[in-house]
Amino acid sequence: MDARFIGIDLGNTNQTIALADASGNLLRIERRVTEPGGTAPAILEGVLDAVETLLAGQSARDAGVRAVGVGFGGPVDMPTGTVRLSHQVPGWEDVPLKALLEERFAVPARVDNDANVGTLGELRFGAGQGLQDIVYINIGTGIGGGLVFAGRLHRGVSTAAGEIGHTIVLPGGPLCSCGHRGCLEALCSGTAIGRRARDLAEGDPALGARLLTLAGGDPERITAKTAFRAAEEGDPGGRRVLNETVEYLAIAIGNLLNLLNPQAIILGGGVSEAGDLLFVPLRERTRDYCMEPPYAAARILPAQLGYDAGVRGAVALAMEG
Ligand SMILES: [Zn+2]
Repeated sequence: MDARFIGIDLGNTNQTIALADASGNLLRIERRVTEPGGTAPAILEGVLDAVETLLAGQSARDAGVRAVGVGFGGPVDMPTGTVRLSHQVPGWEDVPLKALLEERFAVPARVDNDANVGTLGELRFGAGQGLQDIVYINIGTGIGGGLVFAGRLHRGVSTAAGEIGHTIVLPGGPLCSCGHRGCLEALCSGTAIGRRARDLAEGDPALGARLLTLAGGDPERITAKTAFRAAEEGDPGGRRVLNETVEYLAIAIGNLLNLLNPQAIILGGGVSEAGDLLFVPLRERTRDYCMEPPYAAARILPAQLGYDAGVRGAVALAMEG
């Protein structure tokens, strides 16, 4: 029987559940969406049902499944696989997810946060293939990250390592969700970039004119995408938002390079889809924030896994054992 693995990308709004082969190819995929007002038990039931659908009436063992991996959209105590909580969905406080899955399916389960799982996915199947020392940064509505040393994920003593989004890049800067000021996440998440662009359009109407036009005249509709599109056109307002984004990211990445001397920094998430518009100036500006040897040793690369990165990472976690 060929080895199979089950990956579960357990997001707060969307859940993707897949059966994969030993090379990480997704053989079958089930998708679930959280109902409005959804709570943890309902989401969990949907996920368990999706796994049963993938197994098509067989036990996990009879289907060749060696392990289940879960990437959860919130903090997880890794050794025990216990979800600590979700910031968006009620009912996830201290849910023993690993134990629940092992009891239900009688195969080993591993549960980690989605940033670590995304890191493993890029390491095994994406831009980090063949590398041993990488830092992964996911820039979406928030900023998460993961560290890999000598081919293994570094989780830290309380499994909280890799919180790159909460390193300070602007002392006294905007308030962050963590309660501190000037974190990378408070300046460079997709949400924060959109907010800086809106502030620019409202504070300096001349400089922000193109941003407002691209958003159909409604400042509330200005997003990070609006700013990057304006920057691509050469608009000074868009360029300002982009340049600030590059500067803060370059500070954070420069610090990471000096501290960790990795082979690559891999950027994923929606913001990284800006491509060369972001990566070309970012590589250039990072040079000014670190020493030459770690700069020369590292590549700053876009992530490769795209839409199904979460579930492919969960498959990589299942294989990690
Ligand atoms: Zn923070």
